[in-house]
Amino acid sequence: MRAWAVVECGKPLQELEWTTPEPQGEQVLLEVTHAGVCHSDLHIWEGIYDLGSRGQMKLTDRGVVLPLAMGHEIVGRVLKCGPDAAGKVEVGKSYAVFPWVGCGKCAVCQAEEENMCLQPRSLGVYQNGGYATHVLATRWSHLVDIEGVDPSLAATYACSGITVYSAINKLLPMNPDEPIVLVGAGGLGLQAISILKALGHKAIISVDVGQDKLDAAAAMGATGTVLATKEGTTKRIIEAAGGPVAGVIDLVNGTETARFAFDALRKGGKLVQVGLFGGEMNIPLPLMPIRALTVQGSYVGNVKELRELMGIARSGKIASIPVANEPLQNADGVLNRLRAGKITGRVVLTAA
Ligand SMILES: [Zn+2]
Ligand SMILES: [Zn+2]
Repeated sequence: MRAWAVVECGKPLQELEWTTPEPQGEQVLLEVTHAGVCHSDLHIWEGIYDLGSRGQMKLTDRGVVLPLAMGHEIVGRVLKCGPDAAGKVEVGKSYAVFPWVGCGKCAVCQAEEENMCLQPRSLGVYQNGGYATHVLATRWSHLVDIEGVDPSLAATYACSGITVYSAINKLLPMNPDEPIVLVGAGGLGLQAISILKALGHKAIISVDVGQDKLDAAAAMGATGTVLATKEGTTKRIIEAAGGPVAGVIDLVNGTETARFAFDALRKGGKLVQVGLFGGEMNIPLPLMPIRALTVQGSYVGNVKELRELMGIARSGKIASIPVANEPLQNADGVLNRLRAGKITGRVVLTAA
């Protein structure tokens, strides 16, 4: 098998030849047909998270081992099942691969909430992922049927899809006419708009620093857009929403966005923090009780959410985000364009 792997943090990916793994136990070997390029790959590639005044968190200190084939939005065709996976999935059929793998043994893993496991084994982070010709799924139960869904789009549901779906579920149920504010109109932001609409939510305000991104958000169905600038963003969000807001999902989650997102909340409001942009947030403590606010983090999603979301997608309710395809071997170039902010929607790499 071939992989386009991170060999050194932040340096160009290298094409490597590896021995194709033999599936053991519940494992399933798939031929990768589609692999989405996600913004979080930039952090994995660079190997650090910015923790503001607390410095940086290095991924290699957290168990990431190089060389690594990144890529956690994977659709592939089943080639071979391990002995305990035989008959559980269909050889030759295409599936989305749930990447947020845990230890498989603890209580959260047993409850299929592996994204909350304390010993993560995520594909494309701690194990090799989709920027390769082959991928080894840890368990057959991580494969989700995509029949009827465009495979490029289905790939994006494994990360950007369940990430926003899980964040949205931390705000819902909510009156469909009550504005939900989405900070960031990249791949995640557009995905959030299409999923909110599929769930029947009507008032969606998109905030971004780029007018082109906001135009894409409006085309996707955002009912209001706000251009984020150095000053006055909170005020413009509140104007666009017709008052302070009940729910904000911050898909960027940097020092500046966290500030205006928090300041836009009404009494009882909730800020769900999703992005990994980095920095820190200073909260005037009396405001938390006085305004009865909630700030909650949300990290990807679980396999139950992926099955639910794929079910909604298979019913045809979710409008497609803009997806462009490029060959797998262009992974490095795509990452560079993503870092430069030059990608609208999602690029999904495809096998030749
Ligand atoms: Zn991702
Ligand atoms: Zn676990």
